[in-house]
Amino acid sequence: MSFFNSIGRSMTRAGSRNPKRSPTPSSATAEQQQRSQTDSSVPPSPNPSLSLSSSQNGANGAPRRSPSPQQQPKPLYLCSPFVDAALVKGNFKTIVMLPKYVDIMEWVAVNVFDFYTNLNEFYGVITDVCTQQSCTTMSAGPTLSYTWINQDRKSVHLPAPTYIDYVMTWVQNLLDDENTFPTKSGQDFPPSFPSTIKHVYRQLLRVFAHIYHAHFHHLLHLRSEPHFNSLFAHFLAFGQEYDLLEVKDVKGGSSTVGIGALWERWREMGILEGTKQ
Ligand SMILES: [Zn+2]
Repeated sequence: MSFFNSIGRSMTRAGSRNPKRSPTPSSATAEQQQRSQTDSSVPPSPNPSLSLSSSQNGANGAPRRSPSPQQQPKPLYLCSPFVDAALVKGNFKTIVMLPKYVDIMEWVAVNVFDFYTNLNEFYGVITDVCTQQSCTTMSAGPTLSYTWINQDRKSVHLPAPTYIDYVMTWVQNLLDDENTFPTKSGQDFPPSFPSTIKHVYRQLLRVFAHIYHAHFHHLLHLRSEPHFNSLFAHFLAFGQEYDLLEVKDVKGGSSTVGIGALWERWREMGILEGTKQ
């Protein structure tokens, strides 16, 4: 337990969840997440009765996509000046590097906590426009929509607000779980921590992807795009540096759509330069 970690998390933990959210899968665990990831597209299942066996190596998270070509107008987030609007200029290498004397687990934990907290804040701002009616699926591109594994382990489409509520509640519960994110002195991180974090990362990536695809214009109205771009670029850079991110998840499938295009554009611009992959 580092001083840095205890400060970072204790300052932001309280009240970080949007009060509008319903308490959902309180018993969803990393192991369940691993289990659900064995299927093709597979977020954490809300079904608390899933067994805790795991097959994390089968995880692939390939989103369901239709094969239709992408003859769509360019989304705003790929257009100038929005694509390079940022609070942070240059690349993110220096701020993702592990500081001296800080344990890598602590570093990852506190950063993931911050990504979650910030993303939750952004989503809280647009929650009124992300509704069951406006976002009937967890869309992330013209031909890309993430599915959820239900209690029968069937892949189903959920309205985006429902999907995101499940994800954010699941992550919040993990963060609050001392066995997953220990905050007390002398308590070690569990061996499953790296794989848990990877699952968290994949799900948060999907929330980013939906916001970019469906709500970027709302962020523009709020003039929040530099903040959101910086948060997402930091998230990507950190994920690359610590191998928390699967490139195929970012790209969204065999051909790049949505945030995958943004990711490639930022790499070309040097924003993600210096990090792995
Ligand atoms: Zn939405």
